[in-house]
Amino acid sequence: MLGAANLVMGAWLATAGAPVVDATEVVKDLAVDMRYATPDNFLKQKVYPDGARCLLLPETAERLKKAADALRGQGYRLKVYDCYRPIAVQWQMWKILPKPGYVANPKKGGNHNRGAAVDLTLVTLDGADVEMPTAFDSFERSAHHGYQGGTKASREHREILRVAMEGAGFKRNPMEWWHYDLPGATKLPVLDVPFTKSQ
Ligand SMILES: [Zn+2]
Repeated sequence: MLGAANLVMGAWLATAGAPVVDATEVVKDLAVDMRYATPDNFLKQKVYPDGARCLLLPETAERLKKAADALRGQGYRLKVYDCYRPIAVQWQMWKILPKPGYVANPKKGGNHNRGAAVDLTLVTLDGADVEMPTAFDSFERSAHHGYQGGTKASREHREILRVAMEGAGFKRNPMEWWHYDLPGATKLPVLDVPFTKSQ
């Protein structure tokens, strides 16, 4: 019988020894919209290869599953915008925009480079977008968790996501409603593992 642990192990092996898993192997109904594999991001450039997957540390993926399980009964699924980010891409992004606060300095690396952070939103069970206070990667004050403007629905959705993610043991980023970290992530190593199955 295939249990969750076997599924995680299978995905682990599929990444040729890398310590990350494909999150869609763990969260079966995860919607994936990797924005850095398109020009639809704040850099206005595609910096990920076609077919870039949502790779995460096994613990990050398991917590994501816990959040997704808690949301399903409320009529929502999770949609990821960014997961693990290779350090080589971090250098490329830093070259385009060397501005701390916008792009993490690749010398230190950020939690996305550790497979320990995920950017995400809610969608309905049939995959329709749900109103949030801002678009992904907005640097406005309205992207902060404490923001009380905007529509009631957008604030409620932000809260539903926060409760599910914190309930699964993630830490929120006060400035970015979409970004969640694994606790203690900064102590974990920065990784450089392949992004796509063909690499
Ligand atoms: Zn992020």
